[in-house]
Amino acid sequence: MNPYRRSALAVAIIALFSCSVSQDQEVAIGRQNAEEINAKLPIIRDADVADYVQQLGTAIARTTSRADLDWRFFVVDSKEVNAFALPGGFVYVNRGLIERAQQLDELAGAIGHEIGHVVRRHSVQQMEKGTTANVAVGLTCTLTRLCSSDVARTAIQVGGAALFARYSRLDEAEADSEAVINVVKVGINPDGIPVLFERLIEERRRSPARIQAFFASHPLEEDRIDATRHEIAALDPAMLRGLRRDEPGYAVFRAALRALPGSPEPVRGTQLELH
Ligand SMILES: [Zn+2]
Repeated sequence: MNPYRRSALAVAIIALFSCSVSQDQEVAIGRQNAEEINAKLPIIRDADVADYVQQLGTAIARTTSRADLDWRFFVVDSKEVNAFALPGGFVYVNRGLIERAQQLDELAGAIGHEIGHVVRRHSVQQMEKGTTANVAVGLTCTLTRLCSSDVARTAIQVGGAALFARYSRLDEAEADSEAVINVVKVGINPDGIPVLFERLIEERRRSPARIQAFFASHPLEEDRIDATRHEIAALDPAMLRGLRRDEPGYAVFRAALRALPGSPEPVRGTQLELH
């Protein structure tokens, strides 16, 4: 075990036994898991695509109370609709979600929502409250690469479920509120949040196959959309004036994404780890 890996493991263990996770510990856990994920999932490295999402995400994250984190944004080359965030500011958006976000304000809303989970420390709170057995199995497996056997792979799925939070409805409401505020602060219209959610709910009605992963981790029903619309309606109209819904660069970015080869089919088992 190299020194970095040993220290990360120590950090994780300290975190588990103290029941309180410091920001340094949170970032170490997030970084370690991001390395694992980036080694396992197809991440789009095309600069036109990757840079656009990194810049949009960073601009939104800088408006939050956790602007000091070293925020990293990745596009996963998957047709499945999903987005998730790791502790410490590592945010992933699937190609399938971007394909459904017709304009800038919709993608900004989805990214703003994931940023909201990190800002409110939802997965960290779950680690602090969670059964240490599950988290310990998951982290040990993740940090030591013991996961090549089938037994260990089952273990990481259990741990993964603890680490990749399954958010409560309250968490979702908080992340939506964060998204409304953080996209407004960066000058983007918050209407994209309910518009995208409505499109996803509509697609779930018609053909749920590609979209279930998103709903598994982010409980989403009509009432959540209504709540977001009410929140937007309660904002000072002066704040909403002149906010961008789209920009020419967004179409260029999506064209660059469309020009890439088709997404690889998901590897069996890989998807199970991510919620
Ligand atoms: Zn969520």
